[in-house]
Amino acid sequence: MHNFHKADYRVLFERSADAMLILDGNRFVDCNRAAVTLLGYEGREELMKARPSQLSPTLQPDGRRSDKKADEMAAAAFRNGSHRFEWLHKRACGEVFPVEVLLTVIPFGGREVLHVAWRDITQRKRTEERLRLSRHVIENTSEGVIVTDLTPAIIEVNPAYSRITGYDREESIGRNPGFSKSGHHDSAFYARMWQSLRRDGRWQGEIWDRRKDGELFPKQLRIDTIYDEEGQPLYYIGVFSDITFAKQAEKRLQDLAFSDPLTRLPNRSLFYTQLQREIISALRRATRIAILFIDLDHFKAINDGCGHSIGDQALIIAAERIRDAVRASDVVARVGGDEFTVILPDLPSPDAAAQVASKVVSVLGKPIQLDGRDFRLGASVGISVFPEDGDSVDDLMRHADIAMYQAKSHGRGGYCFFSEELNRTNRRRASLETEMRRSLDLDAAFVVQYQPMVDLSSGAWVGFEALARWRHPEFGTVPPEEFISLADDNGLIGPIGCRVLRTACRQVKRWNDRTGGRFRLAVNLSARQLLAPGLVEDLRAVLAETGVAADQLELDITESVMVTKAESAIQQARHLKDLGLRLAVDDFGAGFAALNHLRRFPVDTLKVDRSFVIQDHGSRRDSAILKAIVAMAGQLGLTVIYEGIETDEQLAFCRDCGAGLAQGFLFCHPLDAADIEPLLRPAT
Ligand code: C2E
Ligand code: MG
Repeated sequence: MHNFHKADYRVLFERSADAMLILDGNRFVDCNRAAVTLLGYEGREELMKARPSQLSPTLQPDGRRSDKKADEMAAAAFRNGSHRFEWLHKRACGEVFPVEVLLTVIPFGGREVLHVAWRDITQRKRTEERLRLSRHVIENTSEGVIVTDLTPAIIEVNPAYSRITGYDREESIGRNPGFSKSGHHDSAFYARMWQSLRRDGRWQGEIWDRRKDGELFPKQLRIDTIYDEEGQPLYYIGVFSDITFAKQAEKRLQDLAFSDPLTRLPNRSLFYTQLQREIISALRRATRIAILFIDLDHFKAINDGCGHSIGDQALIIAAERIRDAVRASDVVARVGGDEFTVILPDLPSPDAAAQVASKVVSVLGKPIQLDGRDFRLGASVGISVFPEDGDSVDDLMRHADIAMYQAKSHGRGGYCFFSEELNRTNRRRASLETEMRRSLDLDAAFVVQYQPMVDLSSGAWVGFEALARWRHPEFGTVPPEEFISLADDNGLIGPIGCRVLRTACRQVKRWNDRTGGRFRLAVNLSARQLLAPGLVEDLRAVLAETGVAADQLELDITESVMVTKAESAIQQARHLKDLGLRLAVDDFGAGFAALNHLRRFPVDTLKVDRSFVIQDHGSRRDSAILKAIVAMAGQLGLTVIYEGIETDEQLAFCRDCGAGLAQGFLFCHPLDAADIEPLLRPAT
């Protein structure tokens, strides 16, 4: 084996990447190439000429003078044989840099000198500095920081972590970070989290956790993976903040935006979101939901009549009663002025919805005391059921609404299920309504037909009943039974009725003028028309405009309005009588026992309903009733008109019951004015 020679050591000294110098007292006696380059000198000779004090700045980082400190370091080396320390050097150009120095005492020519070896530690210092900074940031940040290995087991946490979770460092280290799971998320949630951690190296999201004291809290968490140089994962680092307050603030804002300030119930937009959510969950679990659409029957009257503050209190009480009538897990919302909705999730059967609806109707039907007075709100409820009546929020709401209207029209204070048939009728009504508005702009769409009224004793025509017809290019002739009630609901009865009245008056006046006769005219008034505020003025204007005498015009009023709206109808009837008009009770006997009302109602004519005329004439009892009615009418001084006579037999039967007028296909169908014309004869 080749032994190391003196020359070999020289090479070692010369080629070392660490700077080396030999210091004899206060003088350099040798140095290597690294020392020359690192200190930035031209060559060895120059460096040798420099005094040691020239190679350092005046002060070291600890604030002490370099020469003093250098002496101490040397002394330490002489004492111990060697000494290691950090130092600041200065290059020839004046630049200062940190080094780590090792002083070794070596024998040299019978004396002891120092071997000085050092290396530039700028890089290491920088890293250390950065680490110190990170440490400082991590220790002081308000966000919780948690570092785990790949197990994952916690290997470090910061003070904020302990502050937020309540767990101190010692009790957390070594544990799986899942130890504080809230139980809020299913295993699929965590599986997704780990999947994205492995795939993307990070995950970010909101997650619920449990504090040491058991309280659940939401945190915004971000997890990153730390890799080694080869790209192999080393650690996970999680940084999170407690977002309890942010969540609470968000919830408060939401509550404000999505609840009705008066009743504190969810408003329409929140209700829609919740219904959407319930539909999704019902789909998943294959369960049923019912939607109740509740409309207060008499709210408007209370609100208009007693002021908004009473109205508001009534709504608050209604809201409370509805809330109390359903389960806590059912959703109750206020979706309009006096409209409430309820979602009944997990419906065992539609029957259960009926029970709740009936309970709601009953609690809202109980009187409420406001301002020392008793009020009765009353409610009508429409029910739609998912999935039978629709699978979207809009359909379910629309159908519940339709059902509610149906409930209302069956007399208020009840509930009604939606049905496909209801839907069809409603759709037809909706398209009829649109068309009706369009038709009103066209003069030709609404026309009047006339049916003669015949005097039973002479057979002569004494007048005509005006009957409205709607001729539509697509629907054909829509029967008045269908469009009048629709127009009554949507308010178009006003303009339509006015048009019929004016046309018919003008027509009959013309016939009177041509024949020199004195035909009377019967025009039908719906309940709504009768009660409309402008009726008297309209009639006065039409009479004046057409020149028809008031006592020639008879208004047909249905029997039902005399019963349901008795007071206001009587009032209005009096005003009409004051104008000099005649009034007739239409469809008399069709269903309401209104004999009693007749006494209070200022009518002139009784139009006996067709059902009496067509009944089984063999029955002595029926003919006895009709005879009694006619006799009573006679005693009250009323004219009787038999309606809908189609056969000679019916005619004979009516004659037998008593004198009067008659209408019916037997005499003449309702005809257009142009077809009536040729049949008219001059009065004799
Ligand atoms: P209404 O006042 O009882 O009119 C009599 C109805 O009986 C008419 O039906 C007429 O065509 C029909 N009729 C007449 N003779 C016979 C007959 O011998 N046999 C049968 N089966 N029916 C006969 P229309 O024209 O369909 O009118 C139905 C209802 O619509 C009317 O009943 C009336 O209440 C209402 N109406 C018609 N025109 C108007 C109007 O301009 N305004 C208002 N508000 N209602 C109207
Ligand atoms: Mg009539």
